[in-house]
Parts: sequence; structure tokens; C-alpha cells
Amino acid sequence: MLKYLVYCRKSTDDKEKQVLSIEAQVEEIKQFASREKLNIVDWVIESKTAKAPGRPKFNQVLDRVEKGELEGIISWHPDRLARNSVDGGRIIYLLDTGNLKDLKFPTFWFDSTPQGKFMLNIAFGQSKYYVDNLSVNVARGMRQKIRRGDWPGKAPYGYLNNRQNKSIEVEPKTSKIVKTAFQLFSTGHHSFTAISKFMAGEGITRGNGKPLSINQITSMFKKKFYIGTLEYKGSLYDGNHHCFISKRLFNQAQAVLKTRSRSHDYAHRFAFTGLIKCGQCGASITSESHQKYYKGTDRVAQYVYYRCTKKITPCDQPYVSEDYLTKQFNQTVKKYSIHPDWKPTIDSWLAQKQAKESLEIKAKLKTLTKKLQDTQTKLTRLLDLFLDSGLDDKTYRLKQNQLFENKKKIEDKVQKIRNNGSHWLEPFNEFTNCAILAHKIAHKKSDRDQLRQVAENIGSNFKLKDKKFFINPKTAYFMLAAGGGATTFDPCPNAISDFVTPRGIEPRFSG
Ligand SMILES: [Zn+2]
Repeated sequence: MLKYLVYCRKSTDDKEKQVLSIEAQVEEIKQFASREKLNIVDWVIESKTAKAPGRPKFNQVLDRVEKGELEGIISWHPDRLARNSVDGGRIIYLLDTGNLKDLKFPTFWFDSTPQGKFMLNIAFGQSKYYVDNLSVNVARGMRQKIRRGDWPGKAPYGYLNNRQNKSIEVEPKTSKIVKTAFQLFSTGHHSFTAISKFMAGEGITRGNGKPLSINQITSMFKKKFYIGTLEYKGSLYDGNHHCFISKRLFNQAQAVLKTRSRSHDYAHRFAFTGLIKCGQCGASITSESHQKYYKGTDRVAQYVYYRCTKKITPCDQPYVSEDYLTKQFNQTVKKYSIHPDWKPTIDSWLAQKQAKESLEIKAKLKTLTKKLQDTQTKLTRLLDLFLDSGLDDKTYRLKQNQLFENKKKIEDKVQKIRNNGSHWLEPFNEFTNCAILAHKIAHKKSDRDQLRQVAENIGSNFKLKDKKFFINPKTAYFMLAAGGGATTFDPCPNAISDFVTPRGIEPRFSG
């Protein structure tokens, strides 16, 4: 019989949330344990927040698990155990090593399989605190605009920003010029400079009146906006603006772009520069290209290398080739990704969660609305009484103020619930989409720019040491990797259906 310890926790910052009191948690777990016939050897009660690591009693519990004194933990909900990546990661690690054999929650089904660990990750990570962390750098308004299909930024050449209705419209004159530029370029007979001169002659220039730079021309031809796609922070969205460039013309321009070595070299050479620091001395990693001449075939090949600038102290870190570094990026991105086949599982899980939460919110709102009505009735009665001269002025004011304050408090609560209801759902959904995109990109060969973009989305503080690449992932991505990487494999269909109707499953891959 497994030896379980019960861990109950409630901290002062849980006040706002619907967390049971310690006494209620104890009571529920007692019932749950007797129903499930669980062997409880000890109880631990702690009143500390789990938002930061370092809860003394919790750490002692995990130490005891490591020593083999305990085999399982029972808690009211996963969020009683962990709300930060360190504690969550440690629990999952103990499950991976087998020191911890089981977790039980009256409110959450858990099974020690890769799928179960993945869902546990989500439970650890779904608290508002984490998703907040995740979306720190994302401007909400921008995102919403993008999702509606509106471009939040400056209109590309050939379009203009309509300031009145805040949309982007085709500009009749410049759109014709841009279209001609695409047509000229697609023939393959015109250089970037020639295109830039043509556009300047027609009145499209930089702010200072000079012709557009080669980079500006290149990025114009690359802009998927022209075929109705919005690119924002590594994700693609459907735009709702009108297009004046056909997909065929756009694709022709892309084909010509590929043949232009200049743009190719440019993107190629600088794919990972300005991003990585040396893991030994902390100086920046720079890139340089070397040419090698092959006598036999009379051909010159370009090789790109990355190395430490050694600008801080002497440093003996070796060079790495760009191909090698690309592989390292690929592996890293893959480690923090979700296989696209998880999407349906996640979606249905989210849908259930959303449905459940909206029911809870409805119930809460109903109770509050009732209270509000009661208070309002009391106020009216009080006024009647006062008008009938059954109350003196002073008593009336005192009572009236109390009731009014009370009413305000309830209204605030209603407002708060309306604002924060399922606050974590949207960023969580966005996170899983990004992680799925990361998986797709990690499996695409050679698109270094996209690889760089997703890596920057996953984390920061990139380091290269002894030919190994390190990244400091954001919490949610860290949690993905902590789950034994289960999410980076495709789930077998049986596992999903088994998972949806929870019972023991035989994982196809080891956690
Ligand atoms: Zn160095």
C-alpha cells in the first residue's frame, strides 16, 4: 500500500479566489481518502504562498519523498502544491525518477504517464499568475486588433492608414506603383537599385526624400501583407484588408528574391547575431564568413562561423559553424514545443474548462445579483420609513450610508468577476499556439530567421558555451520541458481517447 502524505495550504493572498479554508480542505481530503482507500501516514499544513519557491514545510515533504519515506502526496488541487516553475518542476522530476509514485487530488484527475504529467503541467501553469507572466511583453490591444484582422501599425507602401475608422485602405495612386514594382521585379531583369529608382521617380521615397534602401525594397517584396496575411511576433493571422497584388505575382517575386544572392547572403549571414552571449566570459557572440576555394571543382564556398568577441576578458571558447548552431537552435526550440497533434486534446480540454468556468462565474454572479437586489430593497424601505417620519434624520443617514457602502462593495465584486472571469484562457491558448508553431518550425530545415524568432518567443538570455546552446525559457515553456518532453512527440490516437475518458494508459513513449 502506498504511503501518502496530505499537504494542505492556504495563504493570505488566496483570499480573492475560491479556495477552501484549511479546515474544509482537511475535511474534503478525509472523505476522499476513505472513499479511495488511501493510506495516509502524515499531514502537513502550511500557510504560505506558493507563488515563489522556498516554502519550508513543502520542501521538507519533497525531501522526505526523495529519502523514500513517502510515496505519494494528496492535496486539494495541484495549485496547492505549486504555483512556480521550480516547485512544479521538482514534483515532475520526482515523478520522472520514480521517487514519487502518485499524486491524488479530489478536484483533479492525475495519472503518472506523459499525458498525465502534461496535464499536471497545465494545472501548475494555468494559474493567473503564470499566464500573466507569459503575456507581460505582449500588448493586448495590438493582439486583439491583429486577431480581428486589422494591422495595428503603419500601412505598407500602396496602402494608407484611415485615421477615422482606424483601418488600412488601398491608396489608388501608390498601389499602382507598388504593383508595377512587383511586376518589374518578377521579370528578374531589374536590380533592387533599379526598382528603388523607379519608385523614387514615381514619388515613393524614404522620409528624407532619398530612394528606398535595398533592405526596404527587399522587405517590401517579402511582406505577406500584400497577399492578405498579417505577420506578428512570429505568428500569422488573416488580414481583412483588400489586396492589389495577386498570389501568383507575389510568388513570382519570391522566386526572384531567392536567386538574388545579396539578399540571400544578408539574411544568411546575420541569422543569429546580436542574440547570443558567450557562456564563459559574457561577451557578445559575433559571426564572420570565410571563403574556401576548391581547386578540383574551381568553386568558392562561403562558410559562416560564430565566435566570442572576447571583448571583456581573454576567452578560449571555440568557433562553431552556422550549421552546427542551427542544429542547436532546432533542438532547443523542439524541446520547448508541442506536437501539432496535441491540438485537439488541448482544445477540447480548454473548451471543457471554459464551459465549467463560465458556469461557476454565472453562479457567482447570480448570488451577487441577488444580494444587490436585497440591498436595494432595504434602501428603498429605509427611505420609505424615513419619509413616513418613522426615523430621525441621524439614524436614517447612518443606516443609509452603511447600506450604500455595502451596495458599492457588491458592485465592485461583480465588476471584478466580469473583468477577470476566464482571464487565463486567452493567453494560455496563445501560448499553446506558439508552442505548436515552434514545433513546426523546428522541423523545417534551414529557415533560420523563423527559428530565431520562435527562440526569442520561448525565452531570453541565450548563451553559447563549449559548443552548447542554452536558453532561459519563460515559465510556461520551462514547464513543457519539465514534463519529460512528452508534448514534443505526437500522441498516439489511442492515448488521446484513453485520456479523454480517463483510465490507465500504456504510453507509447517513455516520460
Ligand atoms: Zn567568451
